[in-house]
Amino acid sequence: MTNQATANPFAHLGPAPYRLIGVEVTEDRVANNAALASAGKVFTTNMCGGSCDHCGTAIWNVFRFRAADGAKFKVGADCAQKVAYELGDSKMVDDVKRAQLAHQRKIRAARAAKAKAAKLAKSVREILANPQWSAAANALADAAAPGTFAAQFAVSLQQQLQQARALSPKQVELLAKLIAEAAE
Ligand SMILES: [Zn+2]
Repeated sequence: MTNQATANPFAHLGPAPYRLIGVEVTEDRVANNAALASAGKVFTTNMCGGSCDHCGTAIWNVFRFRAADGAKFKVGADCAQKVAYELGDSKMVDDVKRAQLAHQRKIRAARAAKAKAAKLAKSVREILANPQWSAAANALADAAAPGTFAAQFAVSLQQQLQQARALSPKQVELLAKLIAEAAE
C-alpha cells in the first residue's frame, strides 16, 4: 500500500480530494483592468496572478482549489494538470482540462475583438487623415489675422485633427464661414 500522505504531491496544501473552485487567467485581469479604467478607478498593470502555492513559480493562469478540509490554495496550470494526473482523480483532470479549453476560447475571442477594434480604429484614422480637413484648418490659420478668433479657432482645429478627433458638423460649418470671411 502506498501511503496517501507521501504519494499526494499536494498534501502540504491540504488533504485530497480537491475541487477546482475557480480559474482566473490573464485575459480576466485585462478585462477587469479595462472595466476599472473606464470607471476611472485605480488598477495595477502587473498582470501576474501571484505565485503557485505548490512550486512557488510566478503564475498567470491561476487555478484555485479547495481541499477536503476546506483549505483553499492556488496553483498554476502546469501544477494543476500534473497533480490531477498524479492523483488519478478523473474529475479533477476533466475540470482542469475544461478550464484550459475555456481559457483557449477566451484567448481566441480576445484576439478577434482586438483585431476588430484595430480594423475600426484604422478606418477612423483613414477618415480623419483625409487631407481636406487639415488643409482647410491650415488655410484658415494662414489667412486669419494673428490674435483673432479665426486664428485661435484654426489652431484648435489643427490640434484636434492631430489627436485624430473628428470635426463636428458645426465646426465644419464655422470653418467654411471663417475661411470665406478671411478670404474677403
Ligand atoms: Zn506550480
